[in-house]
Amino acid sequence: MDDFFDIRDETGARPTLVICPACNQPGFHAAWPWILNTRDTEATHLLLEGKLFKYQCPVCDKGTTFAYDCLYHDADHRVLLLYSSGLYPEEQLIESLEKHADHAQWNSGSQTPAYRRRIVISPFEFYEKARLFEHGYDDRVIELMKVAIKRGMLKEGIIGASDTLVYERTLDDDSISFIVFGEVPGDVVGNPRGYEYLEKLLKDSQESLEGEYRFNSSWAERFLP
Ligand SMILES: [Zn+2]
Repeated sequence: MDDFFDIRDETGARPTLVICPACNQPGFHAAWPWILNTRDTEATHLLLEGKLFKYQCPVCDKGTTFAYDCLYHDADHRVLLLYSSGLYPEEQLIESLEKHADHAQWNSGSQTPAYRRRIVISPFEFYEKARLFEHGYDDRVIELMKVAIKRGMLKEGIIGASDTLVYERTLDDDSISFIVFGEVPGDVVGNPRGYEYLEKLLKDSQESLEGEYRFNSSWAERFLP
């Protein structure tokens, strides 16, 4: 089987043939299998805007999502974020991610902080994590915050049990805005003090998070008492 990261030295977009599901006409989708934020500014912009996998049919103009395996390297915040479409087994992804992280670490010197390595399996999660790392947050703290906020909202009956919170942005007063998707759509704001509290809780915890790549709501549910 070919190694996912054999493509790592290629730069730029790869034109990929796709068939529009609405009108069946073929077209080309610009796929970026590897994105380095300091070099691939166009792809980084699309990713942060949540539009990386969007394909606009030139014939019927219908928008469709065409997702593909993609590694995002955020050199500023020292993150390697891998979106997996399920094409490769998880062990292989982890192996490649570790290899790539070692390489990035080597390039930036041993005195620098370690790279965070993450695997995500939905485009939504991919967009969300890229954005929150860009804004300087720790994704694990954000996941804990989402669970804590949701529990409070459930108690008050103002959110559905299967509704999800997605990080949106930082507001002018440093509070953190989340969008609620599902039964009761809307938005909710998290207090920066809450973030600091959960950050400390995570730091003080005795749990070893070594070798974990998937920090999502199920992880946060398990972590929070
Ligand atoms: Zn079409």
